[in-house]
Amino acid sequence: MHQQNTLKISEIFFSAQGEGLRVGEPTIFVRFAGCEVRCDFCDTKYAWNEGEEEEIKTILKKIEKFKSLTKWVCITGGEPMLQDISELVKMLKKQGYLLHLETNGRIFRQLPFDWVTISPKPPNYIFAKEYVNLAKEVKLVVDKYLSMEIIKKISWKFRKVPVFLQPDSMKRGSMKKAYYLWKKGMESKIKNLKLGYQIQKIYRIK
Ligand code: SF4
Repeated sequence: MHQQNTLKISEIFFSAQGEGLRVGEPTIFVRFAGCEVRCDFCDTKYAWNEGEEEEIKTILKKIEKFKSLTKWVCITGGEPMLQDISELVKMLKKQGYLLHLETNGRIFRQLPFDWVTISPKPPNYIFAKEYVNLAKEVKLVVDKYLSMEIIKKISWKFRKVPVFLQPDSMKRGSMKKAYYLWKKGMESKIKNLKLGYQIQKIYRIK
């Protein structure tokens, strides 16, 4: 795959990390445009198609505006791994940033991330096997497809890291199902299963 000089970006902004183990950390978010999965519950549908082709040096400049606030950059989407982000990642590492990848896990690229969050998506929950040893955490959105069978399978595969049951946009019904599944998980002695959250929905921030 040849290297891209421009990347399709949906938005770049500064906020607090809202999910998973790094919750509350000041973070610069780089949201890549495009996603092939199209989940019903997706809360960034605007990133599926909308975005601007931007040169890597322009993206770096936009990120640099927030550099005094944090070194953490969250590479997210949409699905960031659909594009060849290797040059951008290389430049960011050179400039001393710490990189957090958020991916649905379908595409693997060998890149020097400091933190990897994988969130396999329904209905198939497929992911590249390389993530099993790379992921620092797993997030499973609690929707109509999520079952104990899937939870057991994924928690076992990723048994060295926490697996968060993440309610769909903190909706009441999804939270109730998350708690039910979590309790079932405890009864089945799934030690790495955690109840998840999205603090950006609670605080109503981006
Ligand atoms: S994989 Fe993520 S970005 Fe893509 S549609 Fe699903 S929730 Fe949205």
